[in-house]
Amino acid sequence: MRPLRLIFLGPPGTGKGTQAQRLQQQLGIVPLSSGDVLRREIKEGSEVGRQAAEYVHSGRLVPDDLITRVVLAALDRLPASPGWALDGFPRTAPQAEALAAGLSQRGLSISAVIDLVLSDDEILRRIVDRRVCGNCGATYNVSLLPPKVAGVCDRCGGGLTQRADDTRDVIQTRLETYRSQTAPLVEYYRQRGLLREIDASKSADSVARQILAVVQRLETGA
Ligand code: AMP
Repeated sequence: MRPLRLIFLGPPGTGKGTQAQRLQQQLGIVPLSSGDVLRREIKEGSEVGRQAAEYVHSGRLVPDDLITRVVLAALDRLPASPGWALDGFPRTAPQAEALAAGLSQRGLSISAVIDLVLSDDEILRRIVDRRVCGNCGATYNVSLLPPKVAGVCDRCGGGLTQRADDTRDVIQTRLETYRSQTAPLVEYYRQRGLLREIDASKSADSVARQILAVVQRLETGA
């Protein structure tokens, strides 16, 4: 199988993290969530974490050069094969350009961009119900994708909590930021022939099947 380098695009709450984790279970493709990287840095109190904290907590985007540096460094630490899937990066046109340039310097390029499409009403509902494992990062939804035991991670037994920025006010800011700064990337990647749109309103299983079909077509070059 040739190494796959994927981007998950789509507003917060559309299931990017869940689907990236599923691809890892199915094909070993390693997910890299820029939000997770930042939350880890904040928790550890690193210099990057200190610079990013205020932005993350208010739902605003951290500066392009900071996040680009952090993500490219994290990608360099991943094994080349079977590949990786970015979740939450790029989020602006300058980030997309910097990613393309950074990959090109390494002799690499993006294989495809998976755009998860979902209405704002459904996004809001899903985010308010979202719970995350504080230990391994697995994500759940108390109504759509509940853990077997309430409040406990199926995978590692860790405790499930709500993200600090998953409140209605902050979600609204994150959605507005998405519309103004990130949505233009849909056209950017469409023009480059990389965009694959997926109907994210279906069940997690159905969305996973749609994504797997896309990935299999990439592998066969169809
Ligand atoms: P996420 O977990 O992807 O929803 O990201 C959580 C927060 O981290 C965002 O609301 C931003 O404050 C910050 N963040 C994550 N990825 C990026 C990015 N690519 N560019 C700027 N800020 C980001």
